[in-house]
Amino acid sequence: MIEFKNVSKVYPNGAVALKNVNINIEKGEFVFIVGSSGAGKSTFLKLIMCEEKPESGDIIFNGRNLSKIRKREIPYIRRNMGTVFQDFRLIDHMTVYDNVAFAMHVVGASNREIKKRVPYICGLVGLEKKMKCKPHELSGGEQQRIVIARAVLNSPAIILADEPTGNLDPETSGQIVQLLHDICRKGTAVVMTTHNYTLVHNYPARIVKCENACLSDVGE
Ligand code: ADP
Repeated sequence: MIEFKNVSKVYPNGAVALKNVNINIEKGEFVFIVGSSGAGKSTFLKLIMCEEKPESGDIIFNGRNLSKIRKREIPYIRRNMGTVFQDFRLIDHMTVYDNVAFAMHVVGASNREIKKRVPYICGLVGLEKKMKCKPHELSGGEQQRIVIARAVLNSPAIILADEPTGNLDPETSGQIVQLLHDICRKGTAVVMTTHNYTLVHNYPARIVKCENACLSDVGE
C-alpha cells in the first residue's frame, strides 16, 4: 500500500534525514519504527503525509506517486490517512463529542452522518461515557483516545502515529498501543514511531529500525 523506492530527504540546511530508503508497507500491517532521536523517524511519517517532499526517489501510496502530486491534491490524499501525535492538538473549549464531530465537519460530512458516527467511534476508543467532557477534564490516555477517534473517523487506509505514547505512563502507553492494535486488526495499517523498546516487545508487530537516516527490518 505504501512503497518507498530509493527515497532520500535532505532539509534545506543540509541535514540528511533519510538516505536511500526502500520499504514496503502492506494493507492492514502494524509497523513500529524504532530509533533514537534525530534518526529520521518523523521525517519518514512527514513524507507519507506529504508534509515534506523527498529530495529523490518515489513514494507510492495506493497507486499514486506522492513525489509527483500537485499541492491541491494533498487534502484528498490525506483523507486516507489518520494522524496521531504526542501533543494531542485538541480544541480545549470543545467537548469530546465536538472535537470528534469537528473533524468530520471539516471534510464535509452531513449532520446526520456526524450524529450517527461520532458516538460509534467514541465507543470504539472507550470514551462513550466521556463524550460531554472537555479535554482538560480527562487523563492523558483519554485525551490520546480522542486523537485516535479523530484519526479513525473517516476510515483511513493507514494511521500514522508519531510517538503517540511519548507523554504517557507505561500502563496507559500499553493501553494506547493495544487500541491501535485493535484498530489494525479491523484492516487499517498502523505505522507508529517510538523509542520505547518495552512497548515494542510487549505488542508483537513488524519492527523497522531507523538509524543514521536508514530504515531496515529487524524482524517480527
Ligand atoms: P526523529 O523523528 O527520529 O527524531 P527527525 O526525522 O525529526 O528524526 O529528524 C531527522 C534529522 O533531520 C535530524 O538531524 C533533524 O535535525 C533534521 N531535521 C528534521 N526536521 C528538520 C527541518 N524542518 N529542518 C532541518 N532539519 C530538520
